[in-house]
This record gives sequence, structure tokens and C-alpha cells, in this order.
Amino acid sequence: MNNDIIDVRKTYDYLRKSQTHLVQSSEIATACVCQNLFKLDYPYGAIRSDKDYLVANTVHDIMSLCVSGPILENWHSGLENYEQLGEKIVNESSNIVNIIIKDTLDGANRENRFVPDDFEIQVNDIFHGLVLGMTRRLMKKYEKPSRALTEVTITNIKNHHEGRIDAILEYPNGYGLLDWKSYDLSNTISGREKWQLIANTLLANFRYKRNEDDWTEHNFSCIVHNGGVYFPKTETMTKEVERIKTNRQFAHMVLCGQRVRVQRPKFCPVCDKGLEGSKECLFYQRDARLAYEGKLPAQYDKMTKQFFAKRYAILKERAETHLHKHVASVLINKHGEEEALRRLEKIGVLCRGYSYDFDVDERVVFSRADDNIPLEPRRIVRVIGAEPGKSLLSCISEQASVMEVKNSKITLGFRSKIAVRRAKKQLFHLPIFFLRDELNLTRSMLRPIHQFHKLAADVFIPRELLL
Ligand code: SF4
Repeated sequence: MNNDIIDVRKTYDYLRKSQTHLVQSSEIATACVCQNLFKLDYPYGAIRSDKDYLVANTVHDIMSLCVSGPILENWHSGLENYEQLGEKIVNESSNIVNIIIKDTLDGANRENRFVPDDFEIQVNDIFHGLVLGMTRRLMKKYEKPSRALTEVTITNIKNHHEGRIDAILEYPNGYGLLDWKSYDLSNTISGREKWQLIANTLLANFRYKRNEDDWTEHNFSCIVHNGGVYFPKTETMTKEVERIKTNRQFAHMVLCGQRVRVQRPKFCPVCDKGLEGSKECLFYQRDARLAYEGKLPAQYDKMTKQFFAKRYAILKERAETHLHKHVASVLINKHGEEEALRRLEKIGVLCRGYSYDFDVDERVVFSRADDNIPLEPRRIVRVIGAEPGKSLLSCISEQASVMEVKNSKITLGFRSKIAVRRAKKQLFHLPIFFLRDELNLTRSMLRPIHQFHKLAADVFIPRELLL
């Protein structure tokens, strides 16, 4: 067998035995709030909210198309009347807003999801608030950017970190990072929101400087919310970076199945005040205490051990969803980008040379000169637009699945029509790469185990011990 292929296979074999976990910025922010809270998600699988984020997601979709459209086109700094400019942008965005609302409602009806009666009003109000916040605070302060990118996924393999940034504004001398929140944060910015913003800023540093600690191109980071814009002070950013790195490492070690001591938050409503806090946290704290005191019934003890074995097996699968990205990164470090891509292409993990043909709803057809396409239907791929000067895993991308491969044509199914529209704006004009990827189903797999665990406690633990 060819040496290049053996090299890639060996890298796969080696990485399969090691842990290829990545921690998401939102998970780092949770661990920064309380490390116990992070553990409730992983490995316990106690999902904290069943909330349907239909309104918030729709607003995110609208912003993802409007930023590089009406917002960028109308960007003016140093104006007197920002209210008027805001209204102009809202009017010029109405077509995008209406199409996205319609697409979302169609999708929600197909999936039988709950839609609030005032859905359209809520979406329009929040969008209006975000646009006014941007014109009043951002445009007033900053010049028009040369380019805007939205929904940018960045993977930093070396630091085990991944995140999706709502929007990046590019300037000739650096970048500005934006995070949308669909609620009003005028009175309180919680730690979680701040930490997620700073964690994402580390990723943006990595995208522009290939080093998360190089802040030379960072112009600003901010949260645009329904009542204005929040800019953390530079000292706050610098101070919180160490905390973010500590918690990122903690989360990574937990995911890798290592025993790490949890640091309680400075203030916990349950532990410090006896007020109502997380019931799931109390449940697992009690479980741990009873186990430590040797009071767990033998059968329940045996079951919990099985639950944990299963949980860590699921987490191992989560690590495998990031395997292809790790292999790409290791090979790039070893051979340089061009040579690594050539080797990955040879084994069929990466495909390039495609161009966009046309799209119908969520489906997009690409073609290339030959008909040697090494992808089968149902494969998941990361569609990457190769931006000059950016590392492969920080280039603009979208996830899609292979629907059909016929001669020199391949049809991909994107997550939504909006994802297709976004990709048409910012990705399809670039050289296109398809990198093999996987779906991450960890949360939905962990959840039933958490429910069984609680059910088993109800059945096997004597009432008096449950108090
Ligand atoms: S109840 Fe306290 S210790 Fe438990 S997850 Fe919440 S903040 Fe953390």
C-alpha cells in the first residue's frame, strides 16, 4: 500500500486510542459558572432546560443574513440620527425577515413544534432592538468593516476548544467579534454570557493569528442585546482568560474520564443558603455522599456503576465525532497544509475541486471535473470555504450530509434553507473542500441514562436515606 495512505491510517489508529475531545465555548462558560453544573451535562446527562429556542434561533438566522446585507451596506459612523438609520435598516431587511419567518414556521409546522401566538411580533421586536443597539452603539463607535462573516465555527485542536461565533467584523487592521442575545441585558450581564464571549474571542485570536494568546488583531468583542451593546473592559477580558483556560482544562479532563476535583462556585444558592437550586445537583451530591458512607444498597450500587460505564462509553463516542478534525490537524502540523491535504484526499477523508452548481431548498448540487467522488450517501461532511491565510479548521464552514452521488455531481443536504443562503453569501465563491465529519448525539444518548438512574434511586434507596 502507498506510504501516504499508510501514514494517514496510522494517524487514525493512533488518535483512536487517545482522547480527541473538544470543549465548546458554551460548555467552558458553564464550567466557569460552576464545575458541578458542567458535570450535570457531562457525564450525568441531566439537561437543564427543555425550552424551545424557536424565537432566539430565528433572530440569530435573521441577523446572520442581515449583517453582511442591509447592516453592512448602511454602516455609517459619526452620524447624528441613529434612530433613523436603524429604521432604514429594519425596512430594508423586511424581505429577509419575512422569508426567514416563513421558512421557520413551515419547518416548525412540519415537526409539530410549539409556536407562540406572538411569534412574529417577538421576532420583529427583538430584531428591531438588536439593529437599534448596533446603530446607536457600534456604528457610532466603529468605522465600517471591510467584511462581515456570520456563524463562524472555529476549531483549535491544540487547546481542545471549539465554538461557533455569531458574527465577526473584519477591518484592515483586525477584527471585532459580536454575540447576539435575544433578551435585554441592560441591568445584568451574567458570568456565563461574559465567559462565552471571551472564550469565543480566544478562538477568534486563533483564527487571525494562529495563537489564542495573540491579541494584536483584536479590536473589540461585544454582546449585542435587545436593550443595547455590552463591551467588556480590557482588564475584565485579561483577568478572565486564566479562569477560562482552567475551566476548559477541567471540562476536557472530565470528558476524557479523568478524576478531577470539582471547585464549587464562590456562591451557590443550594450549598450556601439552602435555597432551591438545581434538583439534579442535589441528587448526584446525595448519591456521592451515600456511596462515600457505604450506605448505597448493593443492587443500586451495581446499577450506578453500569450507568457510569455506559456514560463514559458514550463520551468516548463524542470524542470520535472529532476524530477527522484531529487527524487533519496532526497531519498539517507534521507535513504542512498542502501535503497533508493531498494525503487526506488520497484516502477519501477530504475532497476538493468542487464548484457550486445550483440549490433547491436545503439541497445544493456541486460538480467537479471527474467522477471519482469518494463519498457515499448519508455521510456527514464539513463544507469548508478555503479562505486565504486561514488554517483549515478556522475557515468559514457549514455542516451538511451527502444525499446523492451521481457521476461528477454530488448533492448535499444542509441543515436549513437559511444555512444554504448563508453559505451562498460567504462560502460558495471560495475554493470548496469537503472534510468528513460526524454528528454529535451525546446529549440525547446521555439523557435516558440520567432518567433511569433517578428511577433506580426511587426504587432501591430506602426512603429514610433520601431525606
Ligand atoms: S446547586 Fe450549587 S453546586 Fe450545584 S450546580 Fe448549582 S451552583 Fe453548582
